[in-house]
Amino acid sequence: MVENILPPVDPKANLRDYNATCQSFNWKEVEQQFSWSRTGKVNIAYEAIDRHAQDPDRANRFCLIYEDEGRRERITYHQMRDLSNKFANVLKRLGVEKGDRVFIFLPRCPEYYIAMVGCAKVGAIFGPLFEALMEVAVRERLSDSGAKVLVTTPKMAARVPFSELPELRHIILVGAGNIILRPGEVSWEEEMARASYEFDIEWVDLEDPLYLIYTSGSTGKPKGVLHVHRDMVGYLITARWVLDLKDGDVLWTTAEPGWITGTVYGALAPWLCGVNNLVRGGRFDLEGWCRSIETHRVTVWYTAPTVFRRLMAQEEVMKKYNLRSLRHILSVGEPLASEVVYWGRRIFGVPIHDTWWMTETGMIMIANYPSMPIKPGSIGRPFPGIVAAVVDDQGRELPPLTLGGLAIKRGWPAMMRGIWRDEERYREYFSIEPWYISGDIAYMDDDGYFYFQGREDDLIKVAGVMVGPTEVEEALRRHPAVADAGVIGKPDPLRGSVIKAFISLKPDFTPSEGLKEEIREFMRKYFSPRIVPKEIEFRPEIPRSEDGGVIRRVLKAWELGLPA
Ligand code: AMP
Repeated sequence: MVENILPPVDPKANLRDYNATCQSFNWKEVEQQFSWSRTGKVNIAYEAIDRHAQDPDRANRFCLIYEDEGRRERITYHQMRDLSNKFANVLKRLGVEKGDRVFIFLPRCPEYYIAMVGCAKVGAIFGPLFEALMEVAVRERLSDSGAKVLVTTPKMAARVPFSELPELRHIILVGAGNIILRPGEVSWEEEMARASYEFDIEWVDLEDPLYLIYTSGSTGKPKGVLHVHRDMVGYLITARWVLDLKDGDVLWTTAEPGWITGTVYGALAPWLCGVNNLVRGGRFDLEGWCRSIETHRVTVWYTAPTVFRRLMAQEEVMKKYNLRSLRHILSVGEPLASEVVYWGRRIFGVPIHDTWWMTETGMIMIANYPSMPIKPGSIGRPFPGIVAAVVDDQGRELPPLTLGGLAIKRGWPAMMRGIWRDEERYREYFSIEPWYISGDIAYMDDDGYFYFQGREDDLIKVAGVMVGPTEVEEALRRHPAVADAGVIGKPDPLRGSVIKAFISLKPDFTPSEGLKEEIREFMRKYFSPRIVPKEIEFRPEIPRSEDGGVIRRVLKAWELGLPA
């Protein structure tokens, strides 16, 4: 048990009184903050962009302050309205209709965000893809979703197996320059140059799909998690109360849009609040990151434990920069150790606020709020309007300080609305009324604070990214030397967890360091760097149960040197 309690950092935060708000909270009141509650005309793109573009106070704020090592660009809400109108016209010209899937496979760049808004304006479903995905993962996602259009770069297009994707009709290439376009390809720049700034937004139903985002599952196949326009109700109020966004803030959410945190709190949610929003492209680079905070006077920073661990390792470098603009710092994605919360207070003057949610929940579910005492080590308390509980496998609520499944009472606005083309997998989450079963293990203390204790399945978080062991095992087995493979997560001081693979070889192959490296190279080339095992150990055989599954319990025992 954690004994220490940190006092609230800001009694004047947007959410002043957690307990009183929980008592009186009503989603209907949040809905009244949207123009559709008066006009009946619904589209998140209108609420997030066009509404501010028409407001003299907000039109010239920056919905995107973009920078990477080579490019710097600022896009106001007013400009974003025009650019996204143009892109919506491009999509229309290509024959995109409401409900069509348009996938975005780009590095972080302004075009990524313009494309997201443009898709929403035509009522299409956008699909954000991780920049680092390799060919197999790209094919699975585009094929499962039946994507009709893909926005990508000529370089990344090399990882798209077009001939195996009959439903994919158009490729929009960003930065095509003078290359000769193949049939089906068009140039972003040429299409945008000729498209009109005027566009009539497609009004939709609150329950119409907005985006489809893939996440690793405990089986090999990734899950397409579907979110709808009504999500905006949850985005707006969590951004106000958890991120504590106020007029004049500069938010920086470091996640890329291929991860839901990047889509929701790196774009849609801050836009609904009409604040300035920083996006930094490129890889982690400590000095560059500190410079961004200093230059843009970032006030609210939403990042992840993997980032804090890297900062802690190079604290001296941070001292060269003025980071005092930061008034609120939040974390998500992996356990935030108590010492990191205290470290944050020492370095930034404010403790780090942990938040808990998932791709499937669509919005922050459990959090530490600036007006509430923090118990370091706890993910915090449920957002007002959210009922969270620790339950047994029958769905019965367990008493405080008892370990069980973390469950949320179903029916909040940003809850996923489906798993694409897999109704059965969707229903599994809701198999015990009235709960959404998260798959996380947790306990709650006597004051209603929750403590994350791990996953019920074997999913591994590597530097904040969810990895399904089956996905890695299947990829490993495609290497000509590999007979069988079993994978587990192994704790790592920098990345949280790393992947460890146990491999048995086919008869003609002998274990060697060279072969380990060859297998890793194979994984990097055909799959993704994120699923390359950091450690490989050869074993004569991989333990499997009667129904054929890898017995990971035995692998873990091997790792710990315990009897198997
Ligand atoms: P994803 O859907 O990729 O965002 O991953 C969601 C999973 O990340 C959750 O089910 C948790 O296992 C983990 N997670 C999210 N937030 C936290 C947190 N604050 N502390 C520990 N684990 C977290």
